[in-house]
Amino acid sequence: MTSSNDGLNAFEFEITATEGAARVGLIQTRRGVIETPVFMPVGTQGTVKGVRFEALEAEELDARIILGNTYHLWLRPGADVIRACGGVHKFNGWRRAMLTDSGGFQVWSLGELRKITEDGVKFRSHIDGSPRFMSPEVSMEVQAALGSDIVMMFDECAPGKSEHDAAKRSMELTLRWGKRSRIRFDELQNEGMDTGRPEKAEGGRRKAEEESDGFHSSLITHHSSLSAKQALFGIVQGATHVDLRRESLRRTVEIGFDGYALGGLSVGEEKRVMYDVIEEIAPEMPVEKPRYLMGVGTPEDLIEGVARGVDMFDCVLPTRNARTGQALTLRGKLNIKNARFTTDTRPLDLRCACSVCRRHTRAYLRHLYMTGEMLASILLTHHNLFFFLDTMKRVRQAIRSHNFSDFRCKFLAEIAAGVE
Ligand SMILES: [Zn+2]
Repeated sequence: MTSSNDGLNAFEFEITATEGAARVGLIQTRRGVIETPVFMPVGTQGTVKGVRFEALEAEELDARIILGNTYHLWLRPGADVIRACGGVHKFNGWRRAMLTDSGGFQVWSLGELRKITEDGVKFRSHIDGSPRFMSPEVSMEVQAALGSDIVMMFDECAPGKSEHDAAKRSMELTLRWGKRSRIRFDELQNEGMDTGRPEKAEGGRRKAEEESDGFHSSLITHHSSLSAKQALFGIVQGATHVDLRRESLRRTVEIGFDGYALGGLSVGEEKRVMYDVIEEIAPEMPVEKPRYLMGVGTPEDLIEGVARGVDMFDCVLPTRNARTGQALTLRGKLNIKNARFTTDTRPLDLRCACSVCRRHTRAYLRHLYMTGEMLASILLTHHNLFFFLDTMKRVRQAIRSHNFSDFRCKFLAEIAAGVE
C-alpha cells in the first residue's frame, strides 16, 4: 500500500550496521541521503532560528534533514502563499530533505483554545484568535502544498499520564485519523498536488549551483529507483500503556506507511517510563522502516533512544536553549549568564571542535549575551547544533565499530559529571 502507482517507493532505507538494538542506516530520499541515527534541527517558521542554511549544509554541521511545522506555516504565511511560491523548498531555499509534522501536536498544545471532534480539531489561531479547523484531510493538503519530503499523518496526542480508558479512546481516534490521512495523502499524490517533486529540467542547473557552493552534489542525486513522491509516516500512540502502544503499532502497520513514529512521549510522563515504552515497542516496529521518536529530546534521551533501536529524532532544545543563554556540552548544561564565566577565557566546551569553541571564550559569549547582542544566540545555536549533530555522528561511528555500549556509558557518565 505504501508503493506508488509506478511500483516505486518514496524512499529507500537500508541498515548498514547494528549493535544490540542500535542500528546505523541510510535513508535515500528524493532530496538526498540521510545517515541514521539522525538528529533533525527544528525549523518552526521555515527557518532554523539563528542559523543560515549555508552553515547547516556546510561540512561542520552537515544537517541532512530539518523539520518544518505545518501548523505555523499554515497560519503564516499560509499554505496558499507557499503553494504560489512553488513549495517550501523554493520559498525558503533549503535544498535538502525536510520533514513536516502534521500540526496535531501544536493544535493539541493549545489546550483550552481547541475542541476535538471525530472530524478534526476546531481552535483559535494563537496569532489573531481567528477560528480555524484542522483535520487529517486539511493536514495532508497543507503538507502537499508545502511539498515536504516526509509527511506525518494527523494524530491526537494523549497526555503522558492518561488513564487507560482515555488513552484507548485517543488511540482509536488516532487510528481512524491515520486511515483518513493515508487516503487523502494518496489522492493528493495521484492528483499531483505535492509541490516538492524535484523538477528534472532543473536538475542540471541546480547541480551546477550546488557544486559552486561546495555542496556535496552526490547527496541530492535523484535516484531513478525512487517515485519522487512524498513519503508518509504513521504515528503510534497509546500514552504510557504498553498494551495500547502494541495494538496501536499493529493496526498502524496494517494501514501501511513508509516509516513509523512514536508520538506522545516526553509529554509529562516520568523519564524512566518513557524509556520503558521505547524499549518495549521500538524493537517490534518494522525492522525495514525508519523509526522516529518525535520531539525528543536531551542528549541523554538521544543516546537512550538509539540504544533501544530508534533512528530519527527532533527537538527544539539545542536552538531554543541557545536563545536563553544555555549551552549544551559534553559536560552537561552551561548557563552563560552565570557570573563565574565573566573572566573565563576557556571555550564553552573544552572538548568541542566546533568553530565557536575554536575561536571564542566563555567570557566573550557571556558579554554578548548580557548586552543583548544577537550574535550571542547565533553562536550558542551553532555550538548546540554542532553538539547534537556531532554526537549523532559519533554514535554512528561507535555502532559501526561495535563500540556503542562503551560509548554510551562514557557519554552518560561525562554529562552527569557537570561543567568544568
Ligand atoms: Zn562548540
